[in-house]
Amino acid sequence: MYKTIREVHEAYDTKKTTPLELTRHYFSEIKKSKHNAFITICEDRATKQAELQTHELNTKYSGKVPRQEKPLFGIPIGIKDVLTMDGVRTTCGSKMLDNYIPPYTATAVEKLENAGAISLGKLNMDEFAMGSSNENSAYGSVIHPTHPDRVPGGSSGGSGTAVAAGLCFAALGTDTGGSIRLPASFCGIVGMKPTYGRISRYGQIAFASSLDQIGPMTKTVEDAALLCQVMAGQDAYDSTTSDAPVEDWQKAVREVENTPTAKGYKIGVPQEYFIDGIHPEVRKAIENTIQVLKSQGAEIVPISLPHTQYAVATYYVIAVSEASSNLSRFDGVRFGVRPPQAMEAKNPVEFYKKVRANFGPEVKQRIILGTFALSSGYFDAYYRRASQVRRLMRQDFENAFKEVDLIVSPVCPTTAFKLGEKSKDPLQMYLSDIFTIPASLAGLPSMSVPVAKDSEGLSIGIHLIAPRFHETVLFKMAGIIEKVTP
Ligand code: GLN
Repeated sequence: MYKTIREVHEAYDTKKTTPLELTRHYFSEIKKSKHNAFITICEDRATKQAELQTHELNTKYSGKVPRQEKPLFGIPIGIKDVLTMDGVRTTCGSKMLDNYIPPYTATAVEKLENAGAISLGKLNMDEFAMGSSNENSAYGSVIHPTHPDRVPGGSSGGSGTAVAAGLCFAALGTDTGGSIRLPASFCGIVGMKPTYGRISRYGQIAFASSLDQIGPMTKTVEDAALLCQVMAGQDAYDSTTSDAPVEDWQKAVREVENTPTAKGYKIGVPQEYFIDGIHPEVRKAIENTIQVLKSQGAEIVPISLPHTQYAVATYYVIAVSEASSNLSRFDGVRFGVRPPQAMEAKNPVEFYKKVRANFGPEVKQRIILGTFALSSGYFDAYYRRASQVRRLMRQDFENAFKEVDLIVSPVCPTTAFKLGEKSKDPLQMYLSDIFTIPASLAGLPSMSVPVAKDSEGLSIGIHLIAPRFHETVLFKMAGIIEKVTP
């Protein structure tokens, strides 16, 4: 199979395959697969698009892929089921939206499709993107791509597995506290969370609006860069998007892959991220990669991010608070399935109870926690305090970035854990996000790149964090790591 989008386009140019043939190949793989990665497939919609492109390739484009105009021409992708597509069922991994057919398409998806990508279907995920293992989906757990007894990571577990298991060429994930980076690390692929404000959230069903970001999950750094640059940019439908210039990140990656030199770059290694709980093989893999960067000319600088110890607590106050507010729209009146029993309710409270029984246990727990944290009398002690600590954490990064260009760490203290291993213990589960959460709280671009496998053959990713809107350095260093890692 083809490794990069570039290879697919060369294959189209030389008539080795066609968009229709490639699309059919993926549907046949999806149907054979036992990973439970897709919740909904759009076979008719995708096949029609692939037929049209195959026809256009031979006629309108005289056999040559129109790379400038359509950089993702004929690339079959999967979309995390938190993103809306006009006329396509969008469940967000929840029974609450089991029959929801949105009337509009998320900006990020629209931009990819306008660039020629073919959406194959909607990928499984933790309910409302709450989780680290994909065990919280109302549509069943997703199975790890190579180790069936393991989780793929969450909440974009369907995306991680689908790309790694060859069920789509690339995928979209979303990341609030690590949900792109963690499954990318567990599944052995590249996952990138851009700067907060880089990519429009219009059409992304909100979990925690001050943290949520959409990003690419791909086999290579170059393809992540390409998808990111297609999706990035200001959008009138999302007032938090930035007009920061979008660079040619794909070109930046190709350049460093030709000459993988990190000379002149300073790379920070935060002492707080190398704690006792890290699996020794994960620690070793990250230390080896730091050596690799050093041998390519980078200067390695020990740094400190002193408020790291508060990250998980801070995140879980802010995320659940925002979630409790965002999820209030699922009341069976504005949004949400209204079960028949609800219509027999004698009063509004009983009605809401029957409707909200559609939520799974993790979502209910978070709504209750968030409602509590925001309630009068507790707001100052929890939400306000968490917001203050968040600012201190942001400051930690600002200080660090006065000295270094990039920060590296593990993505997660462990490799993919066993199905059921942590699902009974929320605190253990929440600790999986310890290294990814700080960059989310600070709104920084960050990324997971596969660097090694442990003795059981499970993937290990390295985590890279760059200053706000410095995606270029992130992609460059990721490109070097990908190129020179054995
Ligand atoms: N695992 C974290 C949580 O459960 C992050 C989820 C995410 O990034 N969407 O909240």
